[in-house]
Amino acid sequence: MKCMYCGCEDSKVIDSRSTEDGKSIRRRRECINCGKRFTTFETIEIVPFLVVKRDGTRQSYDRTKLKKGILRSCEKRPISMAQIDQIVESVEKQLYNSLEQEITSSKIGDLVMEELKPLDEVAYIRFAAVYRQFKDSATFFEEMSRIFGQPPKGKKKK
Ligand SMILES: [Zn+2]
Repeated sequence: MKCMYCGCEDSKVIDSRSTEDGKSIRRRRECINCGKRFTTFETIEIVPFLVVKRDGTRQSYDRTKLKKGILRSCEKRPISMAQIDQIVESVEKQLYNSLEQEITSSKIGDLVMEELKPLDEVAYIRFAAVYRQFKDSATFFEEMSRIFGQPPKGKKKK
């Protein structure tokens, strides 16, 4: 991105966020050469980042795949398709805003879990079980107690 003041090719990104419609990214940049700041609007590319899997292999991000994973966790749960779409959208927005070109699958999993947790605990645990791939039962129980350790808010025993 060329600096509009001095024409220098190098600038660093200070801030980045997607626009309301989610189709472009507004970036605040600072020129490496003259230090002046300017804003650019960049269209979100169809494949903006790669997903790094646990075994180190890379794959272009696949929305359908992510949605399928969430759907599987939400099976027979009181979660609507619209809510699932919302999760996908919210996760994608965070991924685009992260400026990373490579994102680990576990990072994406964490973001989905954050969204699922307040919605439905069963779906959350199902998703966690798949994504975290608990190495042994000890880690699993550790995670479960972490999840259920805090009593739900606003519920009092009678
Ligand atoms: Zn400049």
